[in-house]
Amino acid sequence: MTPALTLNNVSLEYPDGSSTLKALDAVNLSIRRGEFLSLVGPSGSGKSSLLAVAATLVKPTAGLIIIDGHDVSALSEAERTALRRDKVGIIFQQANLLPSLTAVEQLLIREHLRGKPVRDEREKAAELLNVVGLSGVAHKRPHQLSGGQRQRVNIARALMGSPTVLLVDEPTAALDHERSESIVRLLRQVTDEFQTATVMVTHDTEFLPLTDAVTTMRDGRISRALVPSAQPN
Ligand code: ADP
Ligand code: MG
Repeated sequence: MTPALTLNNVSLEYPDGSSTLKALDAVNLSIRRGEFLSLVGPSGSGKSSLLAVAATLVKPTAGLIIIDGHDVSALSEAERTALRRDKVGIIFQQANLLPSLTAVEQLLIREHLRGKPVRDEREKAAELLNVVGLSGVAHKRPHQLSGGQRQRVNIARALMGSPTVLLVDEPTAALDHERSESIVRLLRQVTDEFQTATVMVTHDTEFLPLTDAVTTMRDGRISRALVPSAQPN
């Protein structure tokens, strides 16, 4: 099986006064469907930059990004947008839900705007809310949901497009310990169930054993990759 996501010698530079800052420095990474990788490292080490280039939101200065066999640099802007829509799910720390929409509407709005048949999408949204444990609150609005529930809506929404690659940036930063653990367990579950290639940036080293491998970043470089001692149960 070819990797779902490959970063090949990827560098990303930002202008920094009279010199340049290397947010990413010749990063190599490869992940297959069904794999759950965690990405740790100090603040400013390039973790979010790595997710941004992998999500095709930011163009690297050098190197190749290959998603499901597609070399992203060879694509036009429109093709890149289509690839992102069809292959990539993105989950940030803040759920960024629209205040006026119910949980199920958060999942449907994008497909609705794309003119997709809403009936099939409704079934899919209901199923995904069930998967993330929110079938009882499908018609509640964000202010009626807890922080953990909002993050679950966020996860379900990212899964609506049936992504191959799931990119998750500090999903538990705003949550207490118990809710954090249940969110990481949920990400493990959806990785297994939907066979996504999942990359999660996290500070919670405690939950690393729920993932398949841990990659550490420092100064824009991947400094080591290790396999956690315990297997998920
Ligand atoms: P992390 O997510 O590990 O905290 P980031 O990827 O956000 O790290 O940042 C890596 C480095 O790149 C930092 O030094 C940061 O200041 C810099 N950086 C990130 N985004 C930008 C940007 N848009 N413009 C300039 N510098 C940036
Ligand atoms: Mg970050």
